[in-house]
Amino acid sequence: MHEVRFNPLINQWIIVAKHRAVRPWRPEEKQTSFQCPFCPGAPELKHLDKWDVVVLPNKYPALIPNPPSVEQEEFSLYTKREARGIAEVVVETPSHEGDLYTLSLDHAVRVVEAYRSEVLKLSSLDFIEYVAVFRNKGKEIGVSLTHPHSQIYALPFIPPRIKQEIYRI
Ligand SMILES: [Zn+2]
Repeated sequence: MHEVRFNPLINQWIIVAKHRAVRPWRPEEKQTSFQCPFCPGAPELKHLDKWDVVVLPNKYPALIPNPPSVEQEEFSLYTKREARGIAEVVVETPSHEGDLYTLSLDHAVRVVEAYRSEVLKLSSLDFIEYVAVFRNKGKEIGVSLTHPHSQIYALPFIPPRIKQEIYRI
């Protein structure tokens, strides 16, 4: 399911992505068989020889460029439409341990340069209204993998909080 629904009570588009519930979750401390998909040698990264920052498509994207069409039911409370967009992951370092603040300054600059080039590329697409770069931390907020990474969501709408800031409403 890749759809956005408009909630008229709060005047917001909401992304509905049921399939994300089945994404791999961070392993328990004792589990050793888990292969991190962001570590060198992982299938997603096998095509790369040497890297320090890499941008990958999100394997469990909430938005995709060509979603299946969404049927609007006649008496539905919500207006629905396709969740058309792009979700990417920025793997910040080959090292499984650490954090953004443990990178060298040069390396951290390369992470920000990756953000910059992706924002420029994604914001030029005609179906994209807003590009969000964000970095969550901790399982409480839903971070499923501990390997240092950020996310980029190219959205088909401007999030309400951002609209408030733009128009000061
Ligand atoms: Zn890793």
